[in-house]
Amino acid sequence: MSHRYVLEESKRELLASLQRRGIHPRILAVLDALPRERFVPESLQARAYEDTSLPIGYGQTISQPYTVAYMTQLLDVQPGNRVLEIGTGSGYQTAILCALGATVWSIELVPELSERARRIVEALGFRPTLIVGDGWSGYPPAAPFDRIIVTAAAPEIPMTLARQLVTGGKMVVPVGDKDQSMYLVTRVSENEFDVYASSQRFRFVPFIRPSEHESRPSATITKESDG
Ligand code: SAH
Repeated sequence: MSHRYVLEESKRELLASLQRRGIHPRILAVLDALPRERFVPESLQARAYEDTSLPIGYGQTISQPYTVAYMTQLLDVQPGNRVLEIGTGSGYQTAILCALGATVWSIELVPELSERARRIVEALGFRPTLIVGDGWSGYPPAAPFDRIIVTAAAPEIPMTLARQLVTGGKMVVPVGDKDQSMYLVTRVSENEFDVYASSQRFRFVPFIRPSEHESRPSATITKESDG
């Protein structure tokens, strides 16, 4: 059996299992179209379609496929939406957002990860705006956003981010310490936010808060979107 055949088989099994767990056909079609094996380190490619997170270096991980699918579904991205992602990581979630027809801004703290993600997503034909910096303050130059997705564990609901949503906009963010509930925050008016928390628990790498005293460029654009 060829390596490619084995990957395809494990991809089919993963998609079937995600479908059994309630992931919609529209999300499954996007996952089917994207090669997750390109986003994981070469030595782990054979495991690309296991339903597990995998290390991508710098102490970070590519999130578990079920978690990515669940968050994507909760986020309810519509074609043409302006979407902000915090935690580019491997770029896999970034590519999914692009494939759903969104215009995407994604912030990553680790420059090497942002650069690696840029190479992968651009090779697939996507053109998100990738920003290196601390995502806790969001990205005011491009705000407001229709959707915001945070892919690292936040200690509390990041209200600075929620305030960068349009009215009617939605934010998905894992909140908690050792493990996290998934929060869906909807901005219902200028000053009102509706909050839903999942009963399911997840395990994310922590949102890193670079020390306030550390001097760090706030946000450096590595690649400007062409729309
Ligand atoms: N969506 C990614 C998840 C990567 S893990 C994927 O599936 O591949 C979370 C990422 O958030 C890590 O790459 C980590 O470096 C990044 N991160 C952590 N704290 C951050 C912060 N304050 N600002 C921006 N990115 C941050």
